[in-house]
Amino acid sequence: MQTTASNATLSRPLQGKTAIVTGSTSGIGLGIAHAFAAAGAHVMLNGFGKPEEIENIRSELSAKHGIEAVYSPADMTKPVEIRSMVETAAKQFGAVDVLVNNAGIQHVEAIETFPPEKWDQIIAINLSAAFHTIAAAIPGMKARGWGRIINIASAHGLVASPFKSAYVTAKHGIIGLTKTAALETAEHGITVNAICPGYVLTPLVQKQIPDTAKARGISEEEVIKTVILHAQPTHKFVGVDEIAALALFLCSKGANSMTGASLSIDGGWTAE
Ligand code: NAD
Repeated sequence: MQTTASNATLSRPLQGKTAIVTGSTSGIGLGIAHAFAAAGAHVMLNGFGKPEEIENIRSELSAKHGIEAVYSPADMTKPVEIRSMVETAAKQFGAVDVLVNNAGIQHVEAIETFPPEKWDQIIAINLSAAFHTIAAAIPGMKARGWGRIINIASAHGLVASPFKSAYVTAKHGIIGLTKTAALETAEHGITVNAICPGYVLTPLVQKQIPDTAKARGISEEEVIKTVILHAQPTHKFVGVDEIAALALFLCSKGANSMTGASLSIDGGWTAE
């Protein structure tokens, strides 16, 4: 028969651990923050939004799950703010055990007219930010001999689509960063993996529907049917809860030997 202590470990597998989730004021990051808090982790939230809404998220997480939730307003285009966010979490919580690089943006336009400043912004948020967080988090993880780094890549880290040059480039890049960081930390109890979701119905996807319609010269309804859900043989959006469950699994003992992997959760998109 299980003891009470081991039952508690099963229901709160991240009890006492600490996690930073970038871009967790919305969508996938918010779902992961909820799942980690429910599993017992103290969570540092990050991302943009209305201050009162962010405060509601923070206080709800803390009250509902009995964990410490703090918020960092660090802008993922600014290396100094990014590294200082990791230092603040380490000071506040005593450690950063789990790092989820999730913040991301999209812009849909042909390469010829793609605004260079959008290119720079997407590469900074979707790729370079993860380099800075990982560099800042690894020394503490190595010192404790345990760490979990999860990069939210995309099916677009494995295959391309037209009109998403910066996003596809950044997502392919983060898979390279995942593999390199995994090799450099493999002997230190640290795992580094990439999750590659297909389409998830979040504000990031909702916002790109009108631009995709314009770029392809079709209606918004046709974009959902013939571009978005057409890409996924299941013809269904991937759920935020499904991605959060995979992130939790990557923090579990069962995933101790998984490192450097790119894990598709895309309704069969990249199997085609
Ligand atoms: P979302 O728009 O709902 O959330 C994005 C988050 O990033 C928000 O919290 C936002 O405030 C934050 N953010 C944006 N710019 C930032 C900055 N400069 N500094 C700090 N935070 C910033 O989007 P989402 O769909 O939840 O996307 C989350 C991640 O998942 C992204 O990396 C995205 O590329 C990836 N992804 C999404 C899908 C999808 O279909 N939604 C599919 C594959 C991968």
